[in-house]
Amino acid sequence: MATEQDQKHLSRYMGIPTFMRTPYQPDPGGLDIALIGVPYDGGVTNRPGARHGPREIRNQSSLMRSIHHVTRVDPYALCRIADIGDVTFESVFDHNAAVRDIELFFACVHAAGVIPLSAGGDHSITYPVMKAIARDAPVGLIHIDAHTDTWDEFQGSKFMHGTPFRRAHEDGLLDASRTVQIGIRGAQNTTEGWDYSLEQGMRVIFMEEFTQMGIDAVIKEARRVVGNGPTYISFDVDGLDPVYAPGTGTPEIGGITTIEAQALLRGLRNLNLIGGDVVEVSPPFDPGGNTALVGATLMYEILCLLAEVIANR
Ligand code: MN
Ligand code: MN
Repeated sequence: MATEQDQKHLSRYMGIPTFMRTPYQPDPGGLDIALIGVPYDGGVTNRPGARHGPREIRNQSSLMRSIHHVTRVDPYALCRIADIGDVTFESVFDHNAAVRDIELFFACVHAAGVIPLSAGGDHSITYPVMKAIARDAPVGLIHIDAHTDTWDEFQGSKFMHGTPFRRAHEDGLLDASRTVQIGIRGAQNTTEGWDYSLEQGMRVIFMEEFTQMGIDAVIKEARRVVGNGPTYISFDVDGLDPVYAPGTGTPEIGGITTIEAQALLRGLRNLNLIGGDVVEVSPPFDPGGNTALVGATLMYEILCLLAEVIANR
């Protein structure tokens, strides 16, 4: 197996593509942060393909280097990071079984005291992730997305990519008063999801308000909402404008730019972060690989945040 040192000395197009060219170590024991693929898109309502996200994000993540050019954080110098592989599924044809498989995988990571940073998969994966890591107490959430994902059901299914945060809230995993949803937009057939978020006390920042506030005020507001409590970051790549991230299942124009997304994430330093994910990268709709590159880069930004949390413990 190539060691971390070997990997760094290889040219970046060489070797087996793990996330960020970290060592592959299936056992999370001894790590601080585990990079995880969740290749599941059984929860999509429209265009599929996010099951291919982890592989393409791994591939594009070989373009990432170590030291952040703004914060000068080198996550690999601060903590122990490895790619622990993909969640394996007993049957992708049974959504309940998939939810269970994801939850069990993340429960092992959580039990080992390791912070998870994942690549989806569609957004339905975040519910079982939260089932595993928020089992002790409800967590706060910074959720970047075009959609609130607090709908109740779709065609009779409670477990799809438009419902994870409703399920998480119903299960007592998510503290609505410490939840901020950023970048929301696009027409819907009912207002039910938006209404649920607002009625439960989540802070919903629609795209128009985002633009009016400016990025610094959005950061301030996100930090105010989540406070010092444990907080998870969930980044749906469709929160970005499809100009930057066309390879996704439910694109909505008029979204966040990549520069704004980077500024937003860099504004979240030194919060009490307990994990994160980047979801909804769909390689079949991403022939040039740019959306996967964007997804990999967002993962790197979140990795730097998580590494600093570890270093400051
Ligand atoms: Mn979503
Ligand atoms: Mn979305």
